[in-house]
Amino acid sequence: MGRRRTGEYFSLDDAIIQGQIVRVRCGACRRAANFLPEDLAAVYGGSRFALEPLFPCSKCGTTDFVRVTTYSPEIADFGRITLRRPGPKKLVQTWENETFTERSRSNYVPDGDFRF
Ligand SMILES: [Zn+2]
Repeated sequence: MGRRRTGEYFSLDDAIIQGQIVRVRCGACRRAANFLPEDLAAVYGGSRFALEPLFPCSKCGTTDFVRVTTYSPEIADFGRITLRRPGPKKLVQTWENETFTERSRSNYVPDGDFRF
């Protein structure tokens, strides 16, 4: 299964080289997800410890019960494992205060995705 002993440094880059999958499980919520280390490295950097929880459980909001393991998939795993992969990025509109002047309306650029 390719699990690593606690304390042995094993980076996301190492997991990529070995073709492994990163499994993240919350013991409190009994939720689990599988990630490609390539995807995690693109966001957090490949030198990060592969067995470190990189984000809290989305249900209980803590890393206290999150356990991370890695394993080497076999051919029999093709078609059987659900991966959690990066989805489309969301653009968030922020708002800020400005004083109303005669130039206030000149900066307005219509946007097809305008929302309050
Ligand atoms: Zn949880």
